[in-house]
Amino acid sequence: MKGDADPLAAANATPRCIARSKRTGKPCTQPAMRGKRVCHMHGGKGGSPAGPTHPNYKHGMRSREWVETRKAVNELAREARELEALIDADWDAPHILDNNSRVVS
Ligand SMILES: [Zn+2]
Repeated sequence: MKGDADPLAAANATPRCIARSKRTGKPCTQPAMRGKRVCHMHGGKGGSPAGPTHPNYKHGMRSREWVETRKAVNELAREARELEALIDADWDAPHILDNNSRVVS
């Protein structure tokens, strides 16, 4: 294998940090962190854990999971109101349905 002949060549072939120096304008020569585009000095270690371990986590009602649950519940409530409107509709009068079978008029 290529790496067996010269281990340093394999190490040097790893992706490099894309950060540039503010003073010199030269690129950072450090290897980028695994799965990141920058080295540990340029934000590769950054980021906070998601969920209850995040420092700004308060009560979870704004978490992704709860926002999606609220959306689903609101959609169900909307459908229930539309069904109620269908039941209450004056069926003797002419009515128009849209593509989703909702009563338009
Ligand atoms: Zn860097």
